[in-house]
Amino acid sequence: MKSADVVIIGAGIAGASMAYYLVQHGCKDVLIVEQEDTPGYHTSGRSAAVLSQLDVDEIFMKLSIMSAPFFYSPPDGFADVPLINPNGILVVGQGAPFKFLRGVARLSRRLGIASQEWSPQETVKKLPALEEDFIDGGVFITDDGALDVHALLWGFLNGAKRGGARLELNAKVEGIHTEGKRVCGVTTSVGEIASERVVNAAGAWANSMAVLAGARPLPLTPCRRHIIVTQPRDDFPIEDWPLTMDTSRHFYFKPESGGVLASPMDQEPMEPCDAHTDEMQVAKAADFLTRFTPKIAPKTITNQWAGLRTIASDHAPIVGEDPEVKGFFWCAGQAGHGMETAPALGEIAAELLLQAHTHRFPPELIAPDRFHKGGLSWPAIVARRTAFFLKWLASPTRV
Ligand SMILES: Cc1cc2nc3c(=O)[nH]c(=O)nc-3n(C[C@H](O)[C@H](O)[C@H](O)COP(=O)(O)OP(=O)(O)OC[C@H]3O[C@@H](n4cnc5c(N)ncnc54)[C@H](O)[C@@H]3O)c2cc1C
Repeated sequence: MKSADVVIIGAGIAGASMAYYLVQHGCKDVLIVEQEDTPGYHTSGRSAAVLSQLDVDEIFMKLSIMSAPFFYSPPDGFADVPLINPNGILVVGQGAPFKFLRGVARLSRRLGIASQEWSPQETVKKLPALEEDFIDGGVFITDDGALDVHALLWGFLNGAKRGGARLELNAKVEGIHTEGKRVCGVTTSVGEIASERVVNAAGAWANSMAVLAGARPLPLTPCRRHIIVTQPRDDFPIEDWPLTMDTSRHFYFKPESGGVLASPMDQEPMEPCDAHTDEMQVAKAADFLTRFTPKIAPKTITNQWAGLRTIASDHAPIVGEDPEVKGFFWCAGQAGHGMETAPALGEIAAELLLQAHTHRFPPELIAPDRFHKGGLSWPAIVARRTAFFLKWLASPTRV
């Protein structure tokens, strides 16, 4: 029978980044098992691939700020190409939603997120696809940009493999074994693996893995989001545009392969699955572009896909050992932030697994036992997170 110090279920960005940091921290006997024939087949291969440090969820905002330096200067040999194209992110919109985001951006400057505020005229001058009539202005977040997801995912996987980790594809976990509420191994579609530590990085299937381990499922919901890509344009130079998000209409677009990538920012709860597209959401994305950015109205949609963003009920990731099943370790609930937070969260997860503590982040904010302790009423969540945010504001650090 095979064995490993740590078995990681899932070769998406969560499993890959955690494997990388486990190896960096000296735990070399790591085996990643993935049900598909390629890593990143599900959510990690379907993202919009941006670093967007400005966020209304302060936990994800902190984790993406902590991760940003990695994208700008990854370790030597991590990837052959830059991980980030630092072309910024532009937030536009009208009315209260735009005012709110502008307020968040002003506050966030104190946390190190650099931004500029533009009038409607300045915004359209910088991004001529926009229409002055539809915007009250723009907030340009200067240090954000487009990530190379392929380079990031394979950088983590190859780095982990160089350090001794193994990757087994087409290996679906079908059973997780325990003895006296302590993990002792897994059964996969291609055989058994003995291990006392099993990481649940199964994305949308995280709760299915919990059930296999005899752990309590947590309030995690996979939600589908669509993306379309329109035909390349030679009539309009779009290559250097930032991702532009309209906060009042809830859609975003950015350059992609000479054309435009756009999302209607939908969020439909679903059972875990290989997510397919729905015609109505594809039409909605095309309609947004046609109505609000008529100069780049799509003539042809060249590509479309959907992926599942798995979101915890309190909008924070779930990282830590299960409170009831020893050795069963959660690394789930990355929602719409798994790429931009992977460097920080991967390292935090590795430290928590190996040392049961980390100095990088308050572990109680992301621990799975927060759902067991009855601390999940909204007042309790808000109190906990407000305390975290105020402390952070009082001593801002770009870790
Ligand atoms: C449309 C869209 C846009 C997004 N845009 C961004 C963005 O701009 N920036 C950003 O940071 N994030 C973005 N995200 C979110 C980001 O993609 C996710 O947070 C991240 O990919 C989640 O990674 P994961 O490893 O948890 O999940 P996954 O990539 O889904 O990986 C989980 C893996 O576990 C495997 N698995 C499941 N069950 C088993 C089993 N029984 N046995 C073996 N293997 C199993 C699956 O096959 C899968 O490969 C976006 C997501 C979507 C859908």
